[in-house]
Order: sequence, then structure tokens, then C-alpha cells
Amino acid sequence: MRATIVTDVHSNLVALEAVLQRAESLQALDQVWSMGDLVGYGPQPSECLTELRRYEFQSVTGNHDLAVVGGIDTRDFNPAAAASNHWNADRISDEEREYLLGLPRTLILDDISLVHGSLRDPVWEYMYSIEAAIGQFRQMTTQFSLVGHTHIPLIFSERPDGRAPEYRRLEDDDVVELGERRLIMNPGGVGQPRDGDPRAAFAIYDSDARTVSFHRVAYDIARTQAMMAEAGLPARLISRLTRGR
Ligand code: ZN
Repeated sequence: MRATIVTDVHSNLVALEAVLQRAESLQALDQVWSMGDLVGYGPQPSECLTELRRYEFQSVTGNHDLAVVGGIDTRDFNPAAAASNHWNADRISDEEREYLLGLPRTLILDDISLVHGSLRDPVWEYMYSIEAAIGQFRQMTTQFSLVGHTHIPLIFSERPDGRAPEYRRLEDDDVVELGERRLIMNPGGVGQPRDGDPRAAFAIYDSDARTVSFHRVAYDIARTQAMMAEAGLPARLISRLTRGR
């Protein structure tokens, strides 16, 4: 079985379509897994949900998903993010709102835990630091975990001798073997990358080969930006897509 792993799609259908097209060419669409933030920021929330739900699709919830459906207060967000969440909220159906409200905070698929932020703070904690990674390893009941939220492709690897976990950025075409070591992996963002590379980021889990591979794919950023401008979404959110920051 091969699952395509996405996170932080953020209503960017053009980026999502590029990812799914590449995933199809790699025969990786048996299932699609997501670590949340399906909506918020971008111009096509409903279209992204429709596209993803065509597949055998499972997702946890993210802070933006909850904000769009009123599950958390948008005052917890910066003004541009809050404005985009309100705009997104007006453009999903009642059924889609219910769907987003029903997403779990954590999922275990095979021996992999999925969560947006971290297991100790599923919606908000950023998995940026060694301290956060140590907290995550303590909470994990599985060998591996997949997180999102930072929009940065990163892997933490637990060391058997009790020293601090190792970590490194993940690059296009990196392949990680699922072996003895416990791992925390973040494929990076589909709809709003923040590692300085504007290409959409995703991963593929291969249950037979016991690998997770990491991928980047270019998409028509200007098309998404034109729709955002048309919608009157904040300029800062439009320009950052070009920089991947
Ligand atoms: Zn996000």
C-alpha cells in the first residue's frame, strides 16, 4: 500500500492538484493521509475538500480548520490569518463545516501517529525544537509520527543512548527507511511552504518497502495568487507564496 501524505494544504487547489498528479505518476494514491490545516489562507477551501475526499482520505484537524468552523477563536491568530479564516468560513457548505468539525485531533494508521502540532498539544505546538521532539517521543505509543503545522520538511530521530534526538531538513527525493529508530517526520506544506522553497511539499509512505519518501513539485503560484487577489485576501499572504516563507 502506498499513501500520499499531505499537510497544510490551506485551500490552495492549484498546489494540491500538482501534488496529486505527481503522486498518481508514482502510484501512491491507494490512500491519502493529512495532518490538517486543509483550509485557511488560500482561495479554494471547498474545492480542496472535494478533491481530497474523492480518495480514501483520512485527516486530523489543524488550528486553521478549527478556526474556520468556529472551534477556536480567530483572535488567537494574526490579523491576516484571521481575515483569511473568516473569508474561508463563508465559502464552505454546512456539510463541509460538519466534516471539518468531525476531524479527530490524532490518528494512528499502521504504526504511525498523525497529529497537526504535537501529541501533547495537538493543535498549537510547533515541532521546531529538540525540546518539542523529546516531548513528542515521550507521548508516542507508536514507532513513528507525522506532524504538520510548521510548513517545514524536517525529521527528528531518537537516539538509543538517550542523547538528544538528531534532526535534519528533508530535501526533494530524500528516502527515509522505517527501521529500528523512532522518528518524527514533517513533509512540509502543500499550500504554503515556509522553508524558502516555494514548491509544494509532500511525502509518500510505502508500507511494503517500509519507507517514506519526500517530494517537491512546482505549481502555478501566479494562478493561486490571482485568485487570492480577486478575493481580496491580505497582500502579505499572497506575496509570501512566491518566496516560500
Ligand atoms: Zn498551517
